Amino acid sequence: MLRIRNLVSGYGNLTVIRSASLHVKAGEIVTIIGGNGAGKTTLLGTIAGIISAREGEILFENQSIAFLSSEKITAHGIALVPEGRQVFASMTVLENLEMGAYLRYRKGEKDEIASDIEKMYSLFPVLKNRKHQRAGTLSGGEQQMLAIARSLMARPKLLMLDEPSLGLAPIIVQQIFAIIKELRALGNTILLVEQNAKAAL
Ligand code: ATP
Repeated sequence: MLRIRNLVSGYGNLTVIRSASLHVKAGEIVTIIGGNGAGKTTLLGTIAGIISAREGEILFENQSIAFLSSEKITAHGIALVPEGRQVFASMTVLENLEMGAYLRYRKGEKDEIASDIEKMYSLFPVLKNRKHQRAGTLSGGEQQMLAIARSLMARPKLLMLDEPSLGLAPIIVQQIFAIIKELRALGNTILLVEQNAKAAL
């Protein structure tokens, strides 16, 4: 599904990713493990089109996406759950889910979106109980669930997760990883970056 060859990327004069290559097949969870500053977020940001690739190839379903805008990459079917969740704090849980389906509203998929919101509520029951609560007032674990659900609302072919365990208590980390396994069982393809090697493996 995703094939990266000899990717080079970074910021200004700083090269962070030097000749990275990897592939993700449909239905897999692929994990990239690395410590602080290893370049994990930079790699996912480059795939998502938030950071420009300098050299190399990023093929998604055999099409080059290396130099496309992030909006076009989202439309191709790649969604990023960013590090630190980055939910829309002043919007409600429901509004965050609707934002995840932004491109689909433009295509007129209103009924399917409503049914996907219900699916998110059955996958993450805590979100249903808090649908009218502002996202910024959720706990860290609840915000992580919302960030994952928001990305799933785009119906991505590839879901990229940037350190979902960050700053969460061990019991919540276990819950989040159980959900990630469940997502794969439901047919999702996942690229996961983590510092928590034990949980990720
Ligand atoms: P962490 O686990 O701490 O999030 P990471 O593996 O995700 O780390 P990155 O965030 O990709 O690492 O950072 C890789 C390197 O790029 C670091 O040296 C960082 O200081 C640098 N860097 C990240 N963002 C920028 C930026 N916007 N401008 C300049 N340098 C940056």
